[in-house]
Amino acid sequence: MTPRPYNFSAGPAAMPEEVLRQAAAEMLDWHGCGMGVMEMSHRGKEFMSIVTQAESDLRGLLAVPESHRILFMQGGGLAENAIVPMNLSRGGTVDVVVTGGWSQKSAREARKYAPVNVAASNEADGHTTLPAPGAWQLTAGASYVHICSNETIHGIEFHELPDLKALGSDAPLVIDFSSHVASRPVDWSRVGLAFGGAQKNLGPAGVTLVVVREDLIGHALPICPSAFDYRTVADNASMYNTPPTYGIYMAGLTFQWLKRQREGALTGIPAMEARNIAKAGLLYDFIDASSFYVNRVARDCRSRMNVPFFLRDESRNEAFLAGARDRGLLQLKGHKSVGGMRASLYNAMPLAGVQALVDYMREFEKTQA
Ligand SMILES: *Cc1c(COP(=O)(O)O)cnc(C)c1O
Repeated sequence: MTPRPYNFSAGPAAMPEEVLRQAAAEMLDWHGCGMGVMEMSHRGKEFMSIVTQAESDLRGLLAVPESHRILFMQGGGLAENAIVPMNLSRGGTVDVVVTGGWSQKSAREARKYAPVNVAASNEADGHTTLPAPGAWQLTAGASYVHICSNETIHGIEFHELPDLKALGSDAPLVIDFSSHVASRPVDWSRVGLAFGGAQKNLGPAGVTLVVVREDLIGHALPICPSAFDYRTVADNASMYNTPPTYGIYMAGLTFQWLKRQREGALTGIPAMEARNIAKAGLLYDFIDASSFYVNRVARDCRSRMNVPFFLRDESRNEAFLAGARDRGLLQLKGHKSVGGMRASLYNAMPLAGVQALVDYMREFEKTQA
């Protein structure tokens, strides 16, 4: 079997090969029941066992406490930008910390449903730093505070979630963790609600994960569609409408794969985190030591998952990408709003893939001298 290329896509993104092979093997007949997963009733015992297992595996993996519900929804992170204010704003002001393209979108969408205060923004420096929580202009009595805990486009990550209580705020923290969910542990004591599309780190597009503290459920605005009211979704165990069954199954296989991962004495998410630190370190160290490539994000907030970088001579971009493709290094072109390159190093990317990228970057630099 020839090895598959290394896929650095920002999303939908590479999935673990073991998961893809297992899904292929089970495509026509899941566990001897005579049906494929796509063909099953979502209310039948077969699919019920799949979704129940997926939810409990995820709860264990991410150490989600009993105070928080796990919901599988649809519409992606962008729909949650509307669903969250419809459910949590209760007519009050929403604080948003703008740190890049995704939190900017969240602020814009929330304005349709609630007054929005931009509590801090790093727009002035081109989204390359993280505004210090102590300097955020939080609203007294805000309905919630929204952050994007990993900015997929600009490559900025919160390495510690803000402690809103210590900042004098009683508001729940909402995090958009679409692009780093399951790459590191989450401190749930600081989180009221977390949401993320599956297509970066959990599975195929079509499933949206929402983890929400029980007391935040049940306060939706009257205009909120029933299918997007967390009360309805929670009361119906994520099956008010037909859920994205195949996507949930694939995410479930990914959770089982995550549980099997080991790194020294570590397993599951801590093992992934150790691997992700090593992967990101390898690439950033190489870029920082080079005079040919550059990453412009402040060192203390660089994302482990999404690494945007530039060739100092941008006229070489097309040649760089073509050479990468020839070596089986796929989807390295940067986001259109930033330019340059971006390497996304989600859980399914092995250290060997990052090593292959660094080897290629070194070699490309030499041929340009
Ligand atoms: C990809 C992404 C989204 C958008 O997700 P959709 O599924 O396309 O709606 C939102 N937020 C972040 C941080 C993302 O990376």
